[in-house]
Amino acid sequence: IYEPVNQLAGMEVKGMEKLSDNAIYSNMLAAMDQIDCAILSNANFEHVIELLFSHLPTFVPCSLVSVSQLDKDPTDETAMQVLTLDGKRHQFAQLLDRQVRKMLSADPNGILLETSDTYPSLAPLYALKAERLLMLPVYRDAELSAVLTISFNIDVPITEEIRRIARYFADRLGVALTLVVRAKSLYYQENFDAVTMLPNRRACRERLASEISRAHRYQLQVAVMYISLDGFKKVNDVAGYVGGDAVLKQVGQRIRTHLREADLVSRFGDDEFIVILPDASGASGVSKVAQKLIEFLSQPFKYDEDAYYLNASIGISVFPEDGLVVDALIQHADTAMTRVKAKGYSQFMFHEAQMNSLAINRLALERDLRQALIKDELFLQYQPQIDLFSDKIVGVEALVRWRHPIKGVIPPMEFIAIAEESELIGQLGHYVRKVACKQFRLWQDAGIAPNRIALNISSKEFKRENFVDDFLALLAETGVQPTSIELEITESLLLDIGNQVTASLQHLRKQGVLIAIDDFGTGYSNLGYLVKLPFDVLKIDRIFVAEIGKSSENYEIVSVIIDLAHQLRKTVCAEGIEDETQLAFLKERGCEVAQGYFLSKPLSVEDFEKFALQKLR
Ligand code: C2E
Ligand code: MG
Ligand code: MG
Repeated sequence: IYEPVNQLAGMEVKGMEKLSDNAIYSNMLAAMDQIDCAILSNANFEHVIELLFSHLPTFVPCSLVSVSQLDKDPTDETAMQVLTLDGKRHQFAQLLDRQVRKMLSADPNGILLETSDTYPSLAPLYALKAERLLMLPVYRDAELSAVLTISFNIDVPITEEIRRIARYFADRLGVALTLVVRAKSLYYQENFDAVTMLPNRRACRERLASEISRAHRYQLQVAVMYISLDGFKKVNDVAGYVGGDAVLKQVGQRIRTHLREADLVSRFGDDEFIVILPDASGASGVSKVAQKLIEFLSQPFKYDEDAYYLNASIGISVFPEDGLVVDALIQHADTAMTRVKAKGYSQFMFHEAQMNSLAINRLALERDLRQALIKDELFLQYQPQIDLFSDKIVGVEALVRWRHPIKGVIPPMEFIAIAEESELIGQLGHYVRKVACKQFRLWQDAGIAPNRIALNISSKEFKRENFVDDFLALLAETGVQPTSIELEITESLLLDIGNQVTASLQHLRKQGVLIAIDDFGTGYSNLGYLVKLPFDVLKIDRIFVAEIGKSSENYEIVSVIIDLAHQLRKTVCAEGIEDETQLAFLKERGCEVAQGYFLSKPLSVEDFEKFALQKLR
C-alpha cells in the first residue's frame, strides 16, 4: 500500500497541475496498476519504460528521465534511453563508469550527483541540461541490471517522498526485467534449439502455419525444404558429442548466412534442418537455393583442427501444390528427401504426386518384396559394356527387376531403397549375385562370356562385416574367378569411408576383383577421397552423357572427368549413351568403355546370348 505523496501536493512544477492529496494518490495507484498490468500481461520491457516515461514526470518534478540497461560485462556498451520533458526522446550508447556502478550496487536507495561530479558516462545527460541527478539501481535477481536516472533543476528539493516514488518505479522496472528475462528464457527454451540457437521443430511448425495463411491471402507459394545431413553420425563417432554439436552449429550458421532474412531456418531433428522460403518464386528459384545449399554444405566443417565432410539431401514441397496444411507439406518434403537419400548422393528433389502414393504404398511394397524373394519374382537383365576401341563386349552389367504379380515389372530405383531400409537388401543382393554368377559361369562354359560381369553393390550392404568373405565364398561356390568380377559401388560409400571399407576394397582387388565407382559426378565427388580410394573404373553418370551435344559447358564436365580418371590411372566407362554424337565424342576424348541404349538396352538371357554371338561373328 502506497501512502499519499504529501510533498507533491501544491508544489509548483513545470508540466504538473496542482492536485489534491487524494487526486495524486489515486493517480499514483492508477499508474501503478497500469504498469503492473503491462508487466504481467506482455512482459515487454520497452513498454514498461514507455509507461514509466509517461507517468513519472507527473508525480516527480523532474526535467529528464533516463533508463539504461546494463550488460553483465561492465565493459559492454549499452543503450540509454532518455526522455526530456519537452517530449523529446534520445538514445545514447553508454558506458557506465565502474565507480558509478559500484556505488549503485552498494546502495539500493540510489545516489545523488551534482553537476560538479564529472563522470564521463554522464556527459550526454549533462549535455541535455540535467543539473542534479538522482540515480537508482534496478536489480534483477539481486544484481544491478539497469539504472533509472531522474534529473532535477537545482532549486527542486529532493525530498524523501520523491526518493520513495523513484524507488517504487525503479523496483517496478526490476520486476519487469526479471519477468522479461524469465519469459524470454522460457520462450527460448520452448522455441529454440539450444545447440544451434535456431528455431526448433515447434517454432518451425508455427512459422509455417503463419506463412501458409499469409500465402493463402496473397496467393503466394511457400517452399519447405527438408534438409538431412548424410555422414553426420560419423562426426559424432569421431569428434564426440561436443564436436558434433560444434559442427551442427556451423551447419546452422552456414545455412542461415546463405539465405535471405525472411527465410526461416530451423533445426528439425538430430541432423535435420527445415528451411521455409515464404515467397518461393517458382521452382527454378527454389532449386537454385537448394543447389546453393548443397554446394555450401559440401564444404568441409572444421572442428579441433580436423575437417569433416557432410552431405545434404534436400526434399522440397511447395504450398499450395503439394499440400495445404503444415503436416502435409512437411511430410511431403520429408518423403522427397528420403528419395534423394535412397539414391545415395547429395541432391534435391521436389515432391511429386506419385511420390506421395509411393510413400503410402511403401509398406505394402516392402511386404510384397519379402514375398518376391520367396516366390522368385526377381529376375535379371544384362546390359553389355562395349570397348570403344575394339568394339568388343568387355563386360556385362547385371540389373535386377521385379515382376510384381499385380503391378507388373518394377524398376530397381523403386525398390532398392525399400530393400535397403528394411534390411532386405542383404538377401536381395545375395540372390542377384548368385543368379548372375551362375549365369556368367554358363556363358563362360558356352564360350560367349565377356571378360567381366559387373554387379551393383549397395553401400549399406558393402559395409556389412562379412560381406567380402560371403562374396568370395559365393564365387567359389559358383565357380567364377574374382578376376571376372567388377563391383560397382556408389560415391555414397565414400561418405563414411573408414579403414574397414578401404581394407575390404583392397582385399577384393588383391583377389583380382575390379572396383568401379558408379554414377560418378552426381554425388560426393570429393577429390581427396577419390585419390585415396582403391578403385579401378570410373563410371560417368548418364546425366552428364545426356548433355553431350546440348550445351558446351557439359561437354567440358565429361572431358574433365575423363582426364581426371586418366590422371589417376583409372579406366573410364560412360553410362547411358543414347546417340551417335555422344558415342563419337566419348571415343574422341579417350573414354574406354561405354554402355547405353544406343549400344544395347539391358537384355534378357536369350537376347544377350544373341547379341554376344552377333558381336563375336
Ligand atoms: P546403374 O548401376 O547406374 O545402372 C544403369 C541404369 O541405367 C540402369 O537402370 C539401366 O537400365 C539404365 N540405362 C542404361 N543405359 C541407358 C541409356 O542409354 N539411357 C537411359 N536413360 N538409361 C540407361 P536400371 O536398371 O533401372 O537400374 C537403376 C539403378 O538401380 C542402377 O543404376 C543401380 O544403381 C540400381 N541397381 C540395379 N540392379 C541392382 C542390384 O542388383 N543391386 C543394387 N544394389 N542396385 C541395383
Ligand atoms: Mg551400375
Ligand atoms: Mg550408373
